[in-house]
Amino acid sequence: MDAEILCIGSELLHGDIVNTNARYISKKLAEIAINVHYQTVVGDNADRIKKAFDIGFSRADIVICTGGLGPTQDDITKETLAEYFGVEMIYDEESYQHVVNMYQRFRRSVPKNNIKQAYFPKGSIILNNPNGTANGCIYRGKDKEGNYKIGILLPGPPKEMEPLMDSEVIPYLKEFSSWVVYGEKILVMNIGEAAAEEMVIDLIKEQTNPTIAPFASAGKVVFRVTAKAESKEKCIELIKPLKEELINRFGKENAYAVSSGKVEDKVAELLLDKNLTIAVAESLTGGLVASKLVSYPGISESFLEGFITYSNESKIKTLKVKEETLKKYGAVSEETAKEMAYGAAKVAGADIGLSTTGVAGPSGGSKEKPVGLVYVCVYYNGKYELKEIHATGVRDTIRERAATRVIDLVRTCVEE
Ligand code: ATP
Repeated sequence: MDAEILCIGSELLHGDIVNTNARYISKKLAEIAINVHYQTVVGDNADRIKKAFDIGFSRADIVICTGGLGPTQDDITKETLAEYFGVEMIYDEESYQHVVNMYQRFRRSVPKNNIKQAYFPKGSIILNNPNGTANGCIYRGKDKEGNYKIGILLPGPPKEMEPLMDSEVIPYLKEFSSWVVYGEKILVMNIGEAAAEEMVIDLIKEQTNPTIAPFASAGKVVFRVTAKAESKEKCIELIKPLKEELINRFGKENAYAVSSGKVEDKVAELLLDKNLTIAVAESLTGGLVASKLVSYPGISESFLEGFITYSNESKIKTLKVKEETLKKYGAVSEETAKEMAYGAAKVAGADIGLSTTGVAGPSGGSKEKPVGLVYVCVYYNGKYELKEIHATGVRDTIRERAATRVIDLVRTCVEE
C-alpha cells in the first residue's frame, strides 16, 4: 500500500515553520511497511487543496493530511475530503461536546464558528483528540474508478497530531499491512563515506531485502540495514548475515552495530559493562563530549566529572597541566592533550581520562596550527592513546568531529 502525506498551511510554504509532521508520519508508516512516495505541502487555499487531494488519491491508496481542522473559514480540509468522495458533512454531537469541554477547561465560552469542528464526512471514523479541540477522522470509500481509498485527517499542531497518529492511525492501518519493516545501524569510524561505500559497493548493488543505505555525518558513516518481513524476528534473521558481512569488510576495529547509530551509546554500554569510570577534559568541544556521554541513561555509574578547561590558566589550575608544557608546545599540542587526559583521570579519580584540544576556527589558525587541527587523547591503564585529526568544515562540524572521535577512541582502548 502506498501513502501520500499532504500538509496544509501557508506558514509551511513561507518557511515560518519546519514540516516536522511529514517527517514523523513518514517514519511511522515506514515501520509498518507502508511506502510514502510523495510528501506535498499546500497553502490554505481551497482550490489548491482540492487539487492536491485529487493528485494524491490518483497516485496513492492513502492520503494522510495534517492541518486545516480549525474553526475558521479557511479550514476546509474535511469539506474537501467529503467532496472528493461525494458524501455530505454530518454533525457529531460528541465532537461538539468535546469542543465545549475543552473551552470549559479554560473557563471560556465556545465561539459560534467552533460548531464547524463537529462536522465530518458522513461515514467517517472520528479520532478523538485529547490535546485540542480539533478531532481528526478517517474516511474509507471508493473513488470514481471504484478503487478503495483512505483519507486520514489530523490536526496540525505536532503535540496533537503525533499522539493521534500513534494511538489511532497506526493501529488502523496495520490491519491493511501484513508486513513489518525493521532496521539496524552499523557505525563506521575512521573511513570516509566514499571509501566506505566503495568497500561494499557489490553488496549495495545486489541489495533487495534487506536494503543498505549509507549516510555520513561529522566523523562517522552510518549504514542502515533494513528488512521487510512478516515479523520483527524474521527481519532480524534476514539482517544478521549482511550485518556481519559489513562489519567484516570494514574491520571490527572500525565498525560495530549500535541501534541508535550513536558512538556514545556504544561506549556508555562498554563502560557500564566493564565497570569503568571516566572523566573528561574538554577545550574546543566545550562540554560536547560530556553532554553526549551523559545523554545515556544510567551513565552516572561511570561518568564522574567533566572539566571545561578553555583557557591556559584553567588547564593549569584544574588539570595540573604544566606551565612549561603550554609555553613550549602550546595549548593545541600532543603534550597538552596528554597532560589534560591524565589530569582529568587523576583529579576525578577515574579509570579513564580523555581530552580534546584544537583550533575550531574560523579564526585563530596559523601555518603550523591551522583551523581544524585537533588532538584527542585517552589515558587508560597507564597508557596514552593519542590521535591527531585534521578536520574540515565549519566550527561546529570540527567540534562535533573531535567529540565523536575521542569517544570512539575510548571504545578502542577499552575493547583492547
Ligand atoms: P488548530 O485548530 O489548532 O489551528 P489545525 O488543524 O487547523 O489546528 P493548523 O492551523 O493548520 O492546524 O496548524 C496549527 C499549528 O500547528 C501551526 O501554526 C503550526 O505551528 C503547527 N503545524 C501545522 N502543520 C504543521 C506541520 N506540518 N509541521 C509542524 N507543525 C505544524
